[in-house]
Amino acid sequence: MTDGAEIRLVVAGAVMRSGRLLLAQRTYPPEVAGRWELPGGKAEPGEHAAAALRRELAEELGVVVQPGSRLDAEVDLPGPMRLIALRATLVSGEPVAEEHSALRWVDAAELRQMAARDELVAADTVWVAQLCALLDST
Ligand code: C5P
Repeated sequence: MTDGAEIRLVVAGAVMRSGRLLLAQRTYPPEVAGRWELPGGKAEPGEHAAAALRRELAEELGVVVQPGSRLDAEVDLPGPMRLIALRATLVSGEPVAEEHSALRWVDAAELRQMAARDELVAADTVWVAQLCALLDST
């Protein structure tokens, strides 16, 4: 039975290349504008996480990615929404900020520093430790 309050899945991408992680700077809503996130967005009803991530990153960054394994943590957001993250590798294209104000590739030290400076979207901080471990191991 549906009651209109089904949880919407939001899929973020941990795109890594050569020991660096792609971060994107949000432009909206005002409370998170200027903060950096793993790019991604809402899955359509019935859409698998990997398909949603491929679609969102094509729309937002103009790239084709290959989604991979899921990061350990997930976050419940108002909406209600559930935020998860998948690792991803670039298959083709170079990311362009179609819907963000900027993009940057960070190594583990930069990611830790941005988290310490409160420059990340709050929900995404759950992944910092795992991402730093992954970045440090590549
Ligand atoms: O990007 P979009 O607005 O579709 O994201 C839906 C919700 O998920 C927003 O509340 C956004 O702040 C949140 N989100 C997040 N971290 C991400 C991607 C989205 O907290 N990496």
